[in-house]
Amino acid sequence: DLSSPSGAPTFTVRPSAHPRSLAEREQALTDLAFGTVFTDHMVRATWTAENGWHDERVVAYEPISLDPAAAVLHYAQEIFEGLKAYRHADGSVWAFRPDANASRFAASAHRLALPELPAEHFLGSIEALVSTDMEWVPDSSGSSLYLRPFMFASEPFLGVRPSKQVDYLLIASPSGPYFTSGFQPVSIWVAEDYHRAGPGGTGAAKCGGNYAASLLPQQQAAEHGCAQVCFLDAATNTYLEELGGMNVFLVTDDGAVHTPELSGTILEGVTRRSILQLLRDDGREVHERPITLAEIKEQVDSGRITEIFACGTAAVVTPVGHLKGTDFDLTVADGESGAITQWLYQHLTDLQYGRAPDPHGWMRRL
Ligand code: PMP
Repeated sequence: DLSSPSGAPTFTVRPSAHPRSLAEREQALTDLAFGTVFTDHMVRATWTAENGWHDERVVAYEPISLDPAAAVLHYAQEIFEGLKAYRHADGSVWAFRPDANASRFAASAHRLALPELPAEHFLGSIEALVSTDMEWVPDSSGSSLYLRPFMFASEPFLGVRPSKQVDYLLIASPSGPYFTSGFQPVSIWVAEDYHRAGPGGTGAAKCGGNYAASLLPQQQAAEHGCAQVCFLDAATNTYLEELGGMNVFLVTDDGAVHTPELSGTILEGVTRRSILQLLRDDGREVHERPITLAEIKEQVDSGRITEIFACGTAAVVTPVGHLKGTDFDLTVADGESGAITQWLYQHLTDLQYGRAPDPHGWMRRL
């Protein structure tokens, strides 16, 4: 048993034989986009029905080999997470609420009939990779190291049942500020013909299949000049759920903030949960409740809705300037970013970059 007293396994480090040079790394860290550059190493661990989790290791980042019959390629038994590590002014590196991602990962595993990865393994893998590739955490303004843990069915077997062999990997990607041209309001396309999740389905899990289902409506959003698609509930096509990769909030003229309740068909964002907490800490009225598209149309029109914003790890908080659908095209207030949207963005990013106190202990030093 390689476990340390804390319950975290020991990650054996097998350093890459071909790490990039300092000059290559500095080149790779300039003009960062999202999800295109990867660090020198990755974490791997294997699970088998006989032996559970084992062989936790940090190895060179490289292509992996997969049997063509690997179940994930046929039946999409796969889950993932997304979180960021931030470099503070003193050089230290911190993850934002990684424990929340660990528990969401476990919940997703449960829904996809995958083995749960204990939280200490999940957190241990992040510590092991970030300490190995510490120099890859960028320090330019608004940049971070995006962490992508994922798990998939690797058993070569074409029967439809949970895989008896599963691979866990963690890769890391230095990423630049999400907005290259500042804090810009985006336009959102409301999909009325396609849904991402239905009652009893996998909407509350972070599994690849949900994103596959969102690509066609996302493409249609782009054709209508919109950055993201917003989904309505599949059962009644009435209630606002979430965007393809972000949760959604609105602000009314009484200063209250509203967001769709967790219905079982939306993903509970870590950013969503944090925003709810910050608003409550600030003494604001917050409502997690069903929100209809009809009320949004009416209240954007009447001016009762003063702000709409989306939130998620990648962009933190994004103002929504326009909401479009097949028979409507609404401008939210003056189409610019609102005060609460701006305040939340500032507050959260100050906390993440260590510029503001952290009363809830959300940051974890790596
Ligand atoms: N909804 C969906 C469908 C998402 O993919 C994401 C991004 N993980 C979110 C919401 C926001 O979640 P988080 O704040 O944890 O990034």
